[in-house]
Amino acid sequence: MPEGKIIKALSGFYYVLNKDKEIIQCRGRGVFRKNKITPLVGDEVHYQAENDKEGYILEVKKRKNELIRPPIANVDQAFLIFSSVEPTFSTALLDRFLVLVESNHITPIICITKMDLASKEEQETLAVYADNYRKAGYKVVLTSSETAEGIEDLYPFITGEISVFAGQSGVGKSSLLNVLRPDLQLKTDDISSHLGRGKHTTRHVELIEINGGLVADTPGFSSLEFTEIEQEDLQNYFPDIQELSSSCKFRGCMHLKEPKCAVKQAIESGDLPRYRYEHYITFIDEIRDRKPRY
Ligand code: GDP
Ligand code: ZN
Repeated sequence: MPEGKIIKALSGFYYVLNKDKEIIQCRGRGVFRKNKITPLVGDEVHYQAENDKEGYILEVKKRKNELIRPPIANVDQAFLIFSSVEPTFSTALLDRFLVLVESNHITPIICITKMDLASKEEQETLAVYADNYRKAGYKVVLTSSETAEGIEDLYPFITGEISVFAGQSGVGKSSLLNVLRPDLQLKTDDISSHLGRGKHTTRHVELIEINGGLVADTPGFSSLEFTEIEQEDLQNYFPDIQELSSSCKFRGCMHLKEPKCAVKQAIESGDLPRYRYEHYITFIDEIRDRKPRY
């Protein structure tokens, strides 16, 4: 039975990309009734071909994860887009995104863009941040859609994976996508300028091919709350803090008031940036204050 990946869903049709790089227009016959599942863009499916262009989906394979906005399954990685300025780069928001993305089994790639707008001083500050995050084990790319700085460094990360671009409005997500795939000219925030263009004005998500990978044409990542995370697990999503915890005196140290805490020592010695710890504490408090869910 042939297999493929849904790269677009529109008007009851699922467009399945198979191993031979053919796109088969499929209906979802049977799938809905059998496992009560609605196929999503990103789903790995088995399909039955009716001819070389059409078929129907028989089965949706188990998902690794599922995003709500944009609605995509099996997302491998998220490019966390931040602007150097306009709006100003925020480690608090970045640390929040890192936790949310990693807790969804998605690999984050930090991208700081609009580097052309940063002053010399701001560039130096950002270089230090970039260094801190690299030391923590994250991939960091500094880019500009204006000068194309760093764009070549983005391509290799995209290959072979399903990616989404995430970040606040106005940070430059659409501009980056447009630089990466200049032939497509995807939607930007300015809807009116796109009226009449047709193809990309409709609100559906599509995976577009970039450098041998698939990227969602709609940026997203909706909820920024830690509804699914327990406080004991939070440090799993702070790799720099987690690495230190094996040197804490107490097993299961939460790095709060415990004595001989390696995390506290690392802050004092300058090995761990203080803001990383402060955000960890903020998030712990937030999880503690969370209303119980019923
Ligand atoms: P989005 O909301 O994240 O998709 O952001 P956009 O891509 O629509 O960009 C928001 C604004 O920032 C637009 O006016 C862009 O022209 C501008 N912009 C985006 N990236 C860059 C960049 O690298 N350099 C400069 N100078 N401006 C940028
Ligand atoms: Zn500790």
